[in-house]
Amino acid sequence: MITYSFAEQAIEYLKGVGPKRAELLKKELNIYTFGDLLTYFPFRYIDKSKFHNIKEINNDLVYVQIKGKITSIETIGKLRATRLVATLQDATGTIELVWFQGVKWMKDKLKVGEEYVVFGKPNLFNYSYNITHPDVELLSENTASIVTGLYPFYYSSEKLKSLGFNSKGISNITKTLITSAKGSIYETLPDDIIQRYKLISREEAILNIHFPANPDILQKAITRIKFEELFYLQLKLLMMKQVRLNKSQGHRFTIVGDYFNTFFKENLPFELTNAQKKVIKEIRVDIGSGKQMNRLLQGDVGSGKTLVALMTMLIALDNNYQASMMVPTEILANQHYETISRMLSGLDINVQLLTGSTKTKKRREIDEGLQNGTIHILIGTHALIEDTVVFKNLGLVIIDEQHRFGVAQRAKLWEKNEIPPHILVMTATPIPRTLAMTLYGDLDYSVIDELPPGRKPVKTYHYYDNDRLKIFNFMKQQVKAGRQVYVVYPLINESETLDLKDLMDGYDSITREFPLPEFAVSIVHGQMKAVDKDFEMLRFIKKETQIMVSTTVIEVGVDVPNASVMVIENAERFGLSQLHQLRGRVGRGADQSYCILISTHKLTSDGKKRIETMVRTSDGFEIAEVDLKLRGPGDMEGTQQSGLVDLKLANIVKDEKMIKLARDTAIDVLGDDPLLDKEKNKRLINQLKLMTKVKGSWEKIS
Ligand code: ADP
Ligand code: MG
Repeated sequence: MITYSFAEQAIEYLKGVGPKRAELLKKELNIYTFGDLLTYFPFRYIDKSKFHNIKEINNDLVYVQIKGKITSIETIGKLRATRLVATLQDATGTIELVWFQGVKWMKDKLKVGEEYVVFGKPNLFNYSYNITHPDVELLSENTASIVTGLYPFYYSSEKLKSLGFNSKGISNITKTLITSAKGSIYETLPDDIIQRYKLISREEAILNIHFPANPDILQKAITRIKFEELFYLQLKLLMMKQVRLNKSQGHRFTIVGDYFNTFFKENLPFELTNAQKKVIKEIRVDIGSGKQMNRLLQGDVGSGKTLVALMTMLIALDNNYQASMMVPTEILANQHYETISRMLSGLDINVQLLTGSTKTKKRREIDEGLQNGTIHILIGTHALIEDTVVFKNLGLVIIDEQHRFGVAQRAKLWEKNEIPPHILVMTATPIPRTLAMTLYGDLDYSVIDELPPGRKPVKTYHYYDNDRLKIFNFMKQQVKAGRQVYVVYPLINESETLDLKDLMDGYDSITREFPLPEFAVSIVHGQMKAVDKDFEMLRFIKKETQIMVSTTVIEVGVDVPNASVMVIENAERFGLSQLHQLRGRVGRGADQSYCILISTHKLTSDGKKRIETMVRTSDGFEIAEVDLKLRGPGDMEGTQQSGLVDLKLANIVKDEKMIKLARDTAIDVLGDDPLLDKEKNKRLINQLKLMTKVKGSWEKIS
């Protein structure tokens, strides 16, 4: 039986590792312990019993194994630039093999006319493929030395490779470890689950993932590990939810009173959409239940989430509670503050704004108003969750554009209060259902799947750099017709001076093309002071300027219905969800709107795919699916805190069915044994504890 202590052994104590390489294994591959190495899995397998034809070699093949005759060997270049080039020929063609190091030694080893087995990574060079530093063996000696069958490949870093830990080196230490680990790899799943799904044991799975006996058992091993990963992820999420529901009572909002009703009758400028009505109903059930609401509201850009938030806040007020709304940027905080104050005009409701740039005096007034209850609604940035902000009786927190707020931050909000406020998280970054199930697996979930009526879909076009004059003319036409235009530049990293220079150059050429007094141009970027940003933004909102040149600071949430053109420079540098968000800034009024994506001619295949997708569809969920496929879940915003990054084999896109199975299984297990204290679930508790000892998040669950 084992033995957690084995899995927890520090990696430097493994034979063949030592302190120096251990340091790198930790730093570069996150391998700290024996257990980490056991679950550092190969990223692919090569079937070394098969040979490729030289003619078939292409970009998709990461490694090839070919068999052929060497027809020439040449040393090219002088001194340090010397390289050895050998030509290998099979029945279908020829390929060059190249060595930059060990030239002399290889030259002695290789013989023209002999047949070899060559293994390596093909590179495209001058329109044809070559292989640098391949593994080479005489065909006649090959049968004995090369293991036929599946050969594992591990990612390694350049530094590790230089210390001998290339894929093969990692495989070697893994072999050492596995040999000594036999019998010590403990089971993590309860027997009944293993039997129900006919899973192989964890030990057998780990052995076979590293050293597959045959393709069949490799598949079984992968299935077993994937299930385990997804099952534990879901188990953790569901336990968080269970704890929240059990432990935390919630305020019971039973009254729908004057604030809500007066607003509904007198202030509401339009009919609610059916989707908005449906969601408000779902929310009312939650907040009337006596349990804390923790609901995620997804709705595409422009679907009218702000209104749902506002009406929910009014219910809180009707029940004598305060409400607050937290947003990711100051611009957005300002805008929500303006919009909400305007919509509530005539009602006796005190709305205040708190951001990082609120002056001390004002800040003191707000603190006082919050504590004595004279402030009803507080809108702000994350300044809101600072410990110094104390409410008299906070009943509801709205978090807008949630993907910028982590699970931990959410937790902080409700830890501050004896009875936690209800939480409504809103996001316009649509995510596929399976991902939602995981990313927000501890939340309840609502969708607004309908846009307010009368919206014309935004027309989207792709142009190249050299079409800029045409685009300027189009912008002029639109501005003369009374519309406003956004021009957005990428600023991947707000401190990159190069990006800022692009933006300033763009701004210069636009002010030249659109001169005062006929035109006025605003500019907003991340290195401006908040007051200056707001000033410029406000000029645009008030239509004092017709063009807004900016970085992605306007990406989230900003609402200027008169703006009808979104021009995106270097569109290929933006991610899909960002492009979708940006496009969502237009098409909010009655006018036909346009989104113009400008790119260089040099597009990567991903860049091209992103732009094509934008031109083809405006369905946020479809865009999210493509995005997820292109980027993989690791890069999606919000995945860092979600536990998704702990998945080594499971894939949130490809393993949709298994995610459902894992979630259903976890629901079963917890339904039968909510606290996991039955004997048969002992392994679950032990494993959860071990996982948390490493990652430190168990406290939040228990
Ligand atoms: P998002 O969901 O992206 O946050 P907003 O709440 O900013 O969207 O709403 C977008 C625009 O649609 C706003 O100008 C808002 O006033 C308007 N709107 C919201 N609900 C409706 C509705 N039921 N009918 C018409 N317009 C609406
Ligand atoms: Mg919004």
